[in-house]
Amino acid sequence: MTTFPHLLAPLDLGHVTLKNRVLMGSMHTGLEETGDWGRVAAFYAARAAGGVGLIVTGGMAPNREGGVFPGAAGLFSDADIRNHRQVTDRVHDHDGRIAMQILHAGRYAYGKECVAPSAVKSPISPFVPTALDEAGIEKQIADIVTAATRAQEAGYDGVEIMGSEGYFLNQFLVRHTNRREDLWGGAFENRARLPVEVVRRVRAAVGPEFIIIYRISLIDLVPDGSTWDEVVWLARAIAAAGATILNTGIGWHEARVPTIATSVPRAAFTWLTARLRPEVSIPVITSNRINTPAVAEAVLAAGQADMVSMARPFLADADFVAKAAAGRADEIAPCIACNQACLDHTFSGKLTSCLVNPRACHETELTYAPAAVVKRVAVVGAGPAGMMTAIVAATRGHDVTLFDRAARVGGQLHLAASVPGKEEFRGLIDWFATMLDKTGVALRLGQQAEVTDLSGFDEVVVATGVVPRDPEIAGQDRALSYIDVLKGAPVGPRVAIIGAGGIGFDVAEFLVHHGVSPTEDAALWFREWGVGDPAVVAGGLAAEGPRPDAPAREVWLLQRKAEKPGRKLGKTTGWIHRAALAMKGVRMLGGVTYKAITEDGLVVARDGVDEVLPVDTVVLCAGQLPDRGLADALTAAGIAAHVIGGADVAAELDAKRAIDQGARLAARL
Ligand code: NAP
Ligand code: SF4
Repeated sequence: MTTFPHLLAPLDLGHVTLKNRVLMGSMHTGLEETGDWGRVAAFYAARAAGGVGLIVTGGMAPNREGGVFPGAAGLFSDADIRNHRQVTDRVHDHDGRIAMQILHAGRYAYGKECVAPSAVKSPISPFVPTALDEAGIEKQIADIVTAATRAQEAGYDGVEIMGSEGYFLNQFLVRHTNRREDLWGGAFENRARLPVEVVRRVRAAVGPEFIIIYRISLIDLVPDGSTWDEVVWLARAIAAAGATILNTGIGWHEARVPTIATSVPRAAFTWLTARLRPEVSIPVITSNRINTPAVAEAVLAAGQADMVSMARPFLADADFVAKAAAGRADEIAPCIACNQACLDHTFSGKLTSCLVNPRACHETELTYAPAAVVKRVAVVGAGPAGMMTAIVAATRGHDVTLFDRAARVGGQLHLAASVPGKEEFRGLIDWFATMLDKTGVALRLGQQAEVTDLSGFDEVVVATGVVPRDPEIAGQDRALSYIDVLKGAPVGPRVAIIGAGGIGFDVAEFLVHHGVSPTEDAALWFREWGVGDPAVVAGGLAAEGPRPDAPAREVWLLQRKAEKPGRKLGKTTGWIHRAALAMKGVRMLGGVTYKAITEDGLVVARDGVDEVLPVDTVVLCAGQLPDRGLADALTAAGIAAHVIGGADVAAELDAKRAIDQGARLAARL
């Protein structure tokens, strides 16, 4: 008997049976745009081999005007069909199933040619879309239908029609973006005409034996969004028009409520899918912040959905389903929902990867082949860089010893895990510990590795991390370091934080909270962010707005640069950190000169004027420097070593770079 009976149960769709209830949700990886289709195929083939029930590809543009950005991939030619064939063949070789997502971005398309129901600019795009006339609408429908028939020709098992997240079809549904008064606007039946017509005509074109998933927005999280009655009406109409399955969409891209970030509670939005399920006769898929088989199983066992969609977890671990089925769920590399190597990359025009799995989207280029010569490898430092090096080297067959002066593995990840909203880091530490154990890495914890300890090894890897930078402020012996604070040192009711980088923001978050973290209490989190019930208020934004608990402390977050603090935080998550602290009344100030820390507080100058911030505690978060003590000692002793992670370069170090560097080094040892 498996631990995950609901998750691993087959799903009969009539003409085809999916082998389990796991859908790999659509993600834009950027691989298609590289033109290397062998690489695209390798990415999807690895996930099919890992046992997922149904894969949905990244969004494919039905035409040029609907592409998310100029040059976005689509099925425009016979050559494109041949390229996609490589993908579907490789997936089918592994007994997998794959549907192609058709994504028309409408006014979210990043280009002057973008089209929409009405000429209403989105707050997240500089382009005013052209309002479509009747012929223009007919052209969009025809292009979507053509994309579906070409997908069928390319060997896909189905298509997903993207109708949520504020994209083209979603834009027709709400008055917020649809100001038309013709057949395609005005009354809801008219606003819903386009999505229903698209599904009807796609079904007519592809015949009965082809999966059509329709992604429907259950809660728009924008003003004037869909009402719940409209959602149900649309879901039924879409089912009647020929959809096979309904997938769940949560929030438009322009919504100012986080929906997938790490601080969103796990499975926070499944209650909406549960509410829709009894209203329709076709299977419904739930999604958002489901990242372990246990959470997915619980959702299915509670009857909230027929299937669970997970997207980023399949970047973190291609073998998610196979490991769950084999009783090895503890070996699944957990997606911590950080967005650092996936969505942040996508929005910076970089290829997607994954913080915990640098092989994601790099399957053909980064491989962990068995070592030709088994070596004795010493790794010093059990933070992310050192642990990843040790695990990959041991996986390849090397004999690895990992040293750390601390009594437990994890390094600075423990500090991250103590911050409210970053609880997912605990699972990451657990995974590293499990994998160190299962790959047979010998641990020497509580031991400061000296040069003499390292002389007998074939390879020495120094991953000793960082030390806090000394900001050299008069009176700083009165201050605490971020390490003291995150480890629980007493902090007064009024606090100044020196340094507004990633750690300064984390410390501020830590200090304004008390009691249970909202990430672990969905009701509290909904109240903090002003999420309501779409059955009560159209779009699901609470009429009262966000109502965060009072802050635990009065906090000033400071930096010397005369720019908005937090500008360098993650591209897709920085706004969340800034908004969360603003809600808690944190004063974020740039252009500050630090003069002294005195018994009256922190003396600063701004615009040439001195002032005293009347704080009880000052916390130093002024960045970090490489801890090179051991590396320098090894050099002096003539022992060659590989220096990685923060010990190599501390500037802008994060777990993503540390893990990637460790994995790549270990792949070469
Ligand atoms: P950081 O991001 O480089 O920030 C250092 C801060 O200290 C800056 O605000 C800087 O601003 C200030 N500073 C630098 N030198 C100073 C000096 N001599 N005196 C006073 N202030 C000084 O470093 P971090 O906050 O230590 O974070 C380390 C790394 O971890 C970063 O790369 C960060 O991205 C990553 N991290 C990321 C997250 C995340 O949420 N993604 C969370 C935690 C950490 P001024 O120079 O303008 O004063
Ligand atoms: Fe998940 Fe972060 Fe990896 Fe993206 S980079 S898949 S959010 S762990």
